[in-house]
Amino acid sequence: MDAERLMNAALNEEIKRLTTLGLHRRCVESDLPRLAGLTLEINRLKKAKNAVVCAHVYQTPDIILGIGDLVGDSYKLADDCRKTAADVIVFCGVHFMAETAKILNPSKKVYVPSKNAGCSLSEAVTGADVRKLKAEHPGLPVITYINTSAEVKAESDCIVTSANAEKILRRMYEKHERLIFIPDRFMGANLAKTLGKTPGEDIILWNGTCVVHERFDPELIKVYRKNYPGLVALAHAECPSELIAEVDFMGGTGDMMRYVENTDAAAYLLVTECGFGELARLKFPNKNFIAMCRLCPYMKSITLESVLALLQDPAPEEVTVPADIAARAKISIEKMFELAA
Ligand code: SF4
Repeated sequence: MDAERLMNAALNEEIKRLTTLGLHRRCVESDLPRLAGLTLEINRLKKAKNAVVCAHVYQTPDIILGIGDLVGDSYKLADDCRKTAADVIVFCGVHFMAETAKILNPSKKVYVPSKNAGCSLSEAVTGADVRKLKAEHPGLPVITYINTSAEVKAESDCIVTSANAEKILRRMYEKHERLIFIPDRFMGANLAKTLGKTPGEDIILWNGTCVVHERFDPELIKVYRKNYPGLVALAHAECPSELIAEVDFMGGTGDMMRYVENTDAAAYLLVTECGFGELARLKFPNKNFIAMCRLCPYMKSITLESVLALLQDPAPEEVTVPADIAARAKISIEKMFELAA
């Protein structure tokens, strides 16, 4: 068999693999050969460079299923990265997640395949802001959502993700009457309500928000409930409290996926980033999902093309964290693993 025939055979095998994963249902079918060409070459380069691709659940299905090795929410990805034997981590998620991976794996090369993979929450607070907050509220522990820069993590006492925030805050309140929670004011208020705490008194909040979750309209949930009897609504904990008051379940994406898996509702309304709904549809093809989602411009700045370009020439996108900041940030991240265990 000559080289061209071999290539065509490999491409046909890759198209079959992507079809088995259900990707033909989540793209324009005539585009599948192009996607297969990209995933084939990316997976070949991954092997050659001993690289793993971490894919957050807000990425597109072609990334998650076509090239993802470690897939999950921020907590799962941070935990999985600690255990990988790969030399290179390609982070298909946003920059703060890749920084966390670098802090936990200082000897590995970590890359983000986009210059635009920021996060509105991460950009809402700086290390200087946290130092000022600590000076205004001396002695209060700073509990920080993982969606923050390494510099902010370095100023914090413990990191949380949406998967473990409630558990960790409960444990912190066993030792402290009051605490500081940054930067998501909606998540902080939602947690305060769950824990019976008063924002501004028991829990000092910051003014950060997620541009994706802050704008969902609670009134729409009532409309959907009327139109879809038996509907179960799930929302991410970054949504405003008025919206959370209208849904049946609030949590992180991992909790939301488990909820869908373990229940049998007539229909599900997933109030979060669109990539999560895409994945849920592929995982549970017999369940009925109603669209109510918003695209994250930061997450969606990563594409198969940008991953391929990075693997061909990774140097410009390497993630670095200064050693002194990494050392202090690592303590607050390790505290999360300890308290979440
Ligand atoms: S969805 Fe919101 S919190 Fe997540 S990366 Fe995008 S802007 Fe940040």
